[in-house]
Amino acid sequence: MRRLEQRYEGKAKRVYATADPERFIIEYKDDATAFNARKRGVIAGKGALNNAVASAMFELLEAAGVPTHYLARLSPCEQLVKALSIIPLEVVVRNRAAGSFARRYGVAEGLALNPTVIEWCLKSDALGDPPLNDAAAVALGLASPELLAAMFELASGVNDLLREHLLDRGLELIDFKLEFGTSPEGGLVLADEISPDTCRLWDRETGEKLDKDRFRQDLGGVEAAYREVYRRLVSADSPF
Ligand code: UDP
Repeated sequence: MRRLEQRYEGKAKRVYATADPERFIIEYKDDATAFNARKRGVIAGKGALNNAVASAMFELLEAAGVPTHYLARLSPCEQLVKALSIIPLEVVVRNRAAGSFARRYGVAEGLALNPTVIEWCLKSDALGDPPLNDAAAVALGLASPELLAAMFELASGVNDLLREHLLDRGLELIDFKLEFGTSPEGGLVLADEISPDTCRLWDRETGEKLDKDRFRQDLGGVEAAYREVYRRLVSADSPF
């Protein structure tokens, strides 16, 4: 399947139409942004590495019965997906405090969170993706209470599956962001990506950060961290 006109360009991906109105092609880019795009850069090879990691994670979740938009990895940087109507909420799942959560509540990074915290943020770069509660999400017409409950359940199940899978491969899943959409039939489907851009991943033994925090915090070794995640989750062979 070939890509036709570009439909959308985000910070890390481009979305293209195909001849089939129910299918899109997503291209993963090497571009990296942080702090609501105030920091910009390029992580060499990231597009291909994230596409491979996200494809492997979507395949794992599909095999466990989670509906995802993923259909196939078409080329190093391209993925074929189902066209969905994206719900304008970011679903953030936190097993340990980090990033904006640690700053917001003044707690140490790494504090274990029990129960796991699941938060909604409004998907709006202009407003800096502000967090919102169930009532605000419903009152603003972003989702029904039933849809919020379904997203909570699905996000919680995804967390259980990913956490165990990653831990087996020496990675602790600190937190991550999911996006959901609805299919033309109205079903809730996991969309977007699952990669070191959207997950915080720490080495299980050493606590070393193997995710976009290396870029955000200028820790160095950014490309090496993305390659290491690929090595553990996709293949021990050299990426490409
Ligand atoms: N995240 C993301 N996109 C966003 C905001 C957050 O993928 O626009 C991910 C981020 O990589 C982390 C988790 O969601 O794994 C929680 O991020 P946080 O709210 O702590 O924000 P940040 O530290 O990026 O400001």
